[in-house]
Amino acid sequence: MNQQRRAFLQAAGSAALAFGAFGAHGQAAPKRVTIGGRRVSIVDVHAHCMFPEVARRVPGVAMPRVAPPTLVLGPERLAVMDERGIDVQALSVNTYWWYSASRADANAVVTIHDEGIAAWCKQHPTRFVGLCSVALQHPDLAAQQLEHAVKDLGLRGASIGGHVDNEPPTGTKYDPFWAKAEELDVPVFMHPNNALNIAREGSLAGPGSLPNIVGNPLETTVFLSHLIFDGTLDRFPRLKVCAAHGGGYLPSYLGRSDAACVFRDDANCANKRKPSEYFKDQILVDSMVFSSEGLRHLVAETGVSQVVYGSDLPYSWPDTIDIVVEAPFLSDADKEAILGGNLRRLLRIGA
Ligand SMILES: [Zn+2]
Repeated sequence: MNQQRRAFLQAAGSAALAFGAFGAHGQAAPKRVTIGGRRVSIVDVHAHCMFPEVARRVPGVAMPRVAPPTLVLGPERLAVMDERGIDVQALSVNTYWWYSASRADANAVVTIHDEGIAAWCKQHPTRFVGLCSVALQHPDLAAQQLEHAVKDLGLRGASIGGHVDNEPPTGTKYDPFWAKAEELDVPVFMHPNNALNIAREGSLAGPGSLPNIVGNPLETTVFLSHLIFDGTLDRFPRLKVCAAHGGGYLPSYLGRSDAACVFRDDANCANKRKPSEYFKDQILVDSMVFSSEGLRHLVAETGVSQVVYGSDLPYSWPDTIDIVVEAPFLSDADKEAILGGNLRRLLRIGA
């Protein structure tokens, strides 16, 4: 482990974090998170998986490499969840490489994902729920897939990328999908993929893992901005969208967005409310901001009801459970809501 990583882990003061980073699988008793002496149930909205059989069964679609190998669901996922104190994960497949595929191929990919997630959830009904993949490039098909996943497979919402072949999925062409999510009253989890739609070739090259560190929050920021300014959230006022990585940069600079429609003649805003207002009800964000001050600001901009715990497993990142548990600006009830209560309601997870 390099020195900076050690310092980060020590600063966070988190045993759970260290376990997560080192992967001490299986032996220890599961971590139990308590607040004020009471055990709380932790629910994780940001949990990745992949199904390698897609490459064999749908050879016409170039699937990315499965890395890390623990993206394939197996016993070690449960072991890591136990070490971190995570009770329930909402599983999804990301990178959305099938968004450029034909209708038939994309449907085949989505079917394998959704049936695979459903089967895993059925094996572990108290530990997992699923978010479906959709072929968002074919919005009518995406709506059908979402309906099938929710009504027939028992999945609890959808997972989408921030763009479809560089186009924001927020224009009226995509309304069939958004309308279905609203009709079914299920959330849509948005996860970025290195801002490939925004960053020009080479613009995020160099040290610092910038496609991930800058690109991911940038893609999420742009996606949420389109979702707001295109009026998508007004056309579907009961729609709920949960954005990864704390909603990207948007919650840290919302005042500028609020000013856009008032002060910019060229803004052509289709939104009916101030951008910051959507963060109070329709937009949720995960907790992956990694500092107490970042979390405090996020909660100040959104309210406790809109922040949910996310781990990004099986990728190795600092855990935010302890930052929530130790937050001096949150009541015990607030902490429980962020760590599990909000998601239990949103994803209809039984007590
Ligand atoms: Zn992720």
